[in-house]
Parts: sequence; structure tokens; C-alpha cells
Amino acid sequence: MLLSTQTVIHEALHKLGFQDDMFELLKEPLRLLKVRFPVRMDDGSVKIFTGYRSQHNDSVGPTKGGVRFHPEVDENEVNALSIWMSLKCGITDLPFGGGKGGINCDPRSMSLRELERLSRGYVRAISQIVGPSKDIPAPDVYTNSQIMAWMMDEYSRLREFDSPAFITGKPIVLGGSQGRETATARGVAIIIEEAAKKKGIDLQGARVVIQGFGNAGSYLAKFMHDAGAKVIGVSDVYGAIADPNGLDIDYLIERRDSFGAFSKLFTNTITNKELLELDCDILVPAAIANQITVHNALDIKASIVVEAANGPTTIEATKLLTERGVFLVPDILSNAGGVTVSYFEWVQNNQGYYWTEEEVDQKLQKIMVDAFDNIYRVSKTYKVDMRLAAYMIGIRKLAEASTFRGWI
Ligand code: GLU
Repeated sequence: MLLSTQTVIHEALHKLGFQDDMFELLKEPLRLLKVRFPVRMDDGSVKIFTGYRSQHNDSVGPTKGGVRFHPEVDENEVNALSIWMSLKCGITDLPFGGGKGGINCDPRSMSLRELERLSRGYVRAISQIVGPSKDIPAPDVYTNSQIMAWMMDEYSRLREFDSPAFITGKPIVLGGSQGRETATARGVAIIIEEAAKKKGIDLQGARVVIQGFGNAGSYLAKFMHDAGAKVIGVSDVYGAIADPNGLDIDYLIERRDSFGAFSKLFTNTITNKELLELDCDILVPAAIANQITVHNALDIKASIVVEAANGPTTIEATKLLTERGVFLVPDILSNAGGVTVSYFEWVQNNQGYYWTEEEVDQKLQKIMVDAFDNIYRVSKTYKVDMRLAAYMIGIRKLAEASTFRGWI
């Protein structure tokens, strides 16, 4: 993940005319904190967990990005993810650099009380390097508004003053923003609409396949369904279901568990591999990284791939898809709606003045459409794919800010 990101960053900086010293600065995060901390489990035993917080670059402003709870979290992953956060903030022109955190754990096998102690322990362990104008966490894979609430409470207790702007993705009553819960999916839906226009596909009746049914995947399925598209396949971590006539999305949302799992309710499931290769117009990988690789890129039948997850398509697979004329919209553009509304939340917390859902949606729509148009224009001007174009726009601000600060 990190290596291929660095390859694209190198190419992007080169195309923009920056020298190798800039690449040296931006190829890795400026800071990575690894922490080990104890958590009391419900059975009385103590377990030691390992967590990370990576801060890519704070030349533009404080760093920003989510915290994931997942058994595969490691140093490499948070480093790559924090770089992607920098790129997302560059693309959407937010006054942040990228950050990312994570705890290596399996939240599916933990109780609520254990998760609370884990969340609070993590905040105590990283408290020195985070803060409202330093580094602002948010939800990511398997974390949600309840976890943000515990983290905010722990941080406020440590600092001894109310600090809502320390973290975003909070419940509304604790200073969360209208529209943050659905923001990632809204952003993806806006991008799908723009991509469909470019490809001459009418969303009415378009066949959509979504891999993953977490925060992004489930709300997106709903938005696509409401826009008149036919969601013909969805999956969770255990399996997938498909119906060429369209699935009952409301039923799935009602029946899924808090980790997005629903497939155990069905007997006629297909595999995630089969799901990705379904005959459809729009494919949205909204689960985890490395799902479209050289092994299945030639079997993808969609004409548009919009990446809602972080890193679902490898660089080699991106080339294969592009050569075949598949229009791929990269993660750092299509899933940037989450961090954009997180920015709105942080602004509202700092002002103590709150916006309506309409205001949030309107502002998000403008930022996403402008970002799409800019990247599309750069991809045409430089004759590069959408991923490289997105990297070029995303990295430019960091390179310019680092130059003005005299770092290079
Ligand atoms: N975790 C989300 C992402 O990967 C959102 C980050 C944020 O809101 O700061 O973009």
C-alpha cells in the first residue's frame, strides 16, 4: 500500500515540476506514534492493545483523519492512510494535512464496556500529539459516533475543558454535524452522478453493485435506490447476495447488525469475488483495501468503478481497468465527503454556531462537484488517469505550503 502510493506521489510531483527533495519530504509521514496500553476486560483480565497515530504533514494546518479498530491495523497501513488523508484534504481544499490512527483489535468480539475502556485508553495514550488545532480524529472502519463520544469525553476530562473540536463524527447532541453520518455515502453518490454523466449512463435503472454494507456502503445503497438505480448486488464480510431485479435495501438496512453484516440471514449467497464480477454498470468497492487486483481486473464488467473504500484497487489493476476503458474514480476523491463534513463539524464547533442539514448538503455538493471537475480537467490536460490527476491536485497544496514555510 505504502510503496504503490509513493510511486504515484513521485509521478505526480514530477509532473508538477517538483524536485526529489520534495518527494523525500512527502513520501512518508512526519510523525508516527505507536502506543501499547492496558485495557481491563469484562472477565477481570487485562489485555494489552497496540495502537497508532500517524501524522503525514502539517504544513497546511492541523492533521485530520479517522481511527479504525481492526485486526489488520499496523504501522504500514496507518502510514499509507494518513498520506491519503493529506491528498483528500488537498483535493477538497480543506485547511488540513492528513492523519490516521488505529488500534489492532477485533471489536466484533468485544462488549460495549470493553470498547469504551479501549477508546478511553487510546485517547489517554495519544493525548500529547492530538488536539483541536493539532490533529483531529474521526470515525473510520468499525468506529462510530458512540466511540467518538467516549473519546471526546476522555479528552475533555484530561484537558479539563469542554473540547468538542478535538474529534469529529460525534453524536449531534455532543456537537456533531447534521449530515456527518451520511456524508461519505452522499459524497460517493455525488461522484457517481458526475461519473455517469461523463459516461452517458442514465442513473434511472442503472445497475449498481456495492461491496461492503458498513457506513458508506449501506447509506450509498439507499441513496442509489432512491435515485432510481437498481442495486443488484451487495456484500458483507461473510458473503454477498445478488438479484438482477434489484434488492430490497430498506429490508437489509433494517436487518443488518452494527458491523454491517446481513448475509447470514440468506442461504442463496455468492462470494465477494463473484459479486465484484457481476454484470453491472457501476461497481462500488466500499469495504476494505486490495479487492480489485491483477487477478480479477480483467473480469470486472462494470463501465464505472467508484472507490468508496480506501485503497480497494491496486495500481496495477488501475492500469488494466483504464486500458479497457473502465472509468475509475479514485478513493481520495470519491470518499472525501466524510472528511469534508468533518471539516464543517470542526468549523461549527469552533464557532459554536450550527448549520442546518440543507446547508451542509449544499456545501458538500459544491465541494465534491468542483473537486471532480478539477480532477477530470487535469486528467484530460495531462492525459493521465483520474488517480494520477487526483494525486497531482492533492499533493500540490502540501508541496506549496512546505515551500512557503521554508521546509524545502
Ligand atoms: N475516516 C474517514 C476517511 O477515511 C473520515 C476522516 C475524517 O472525517 O476526518 O476519509
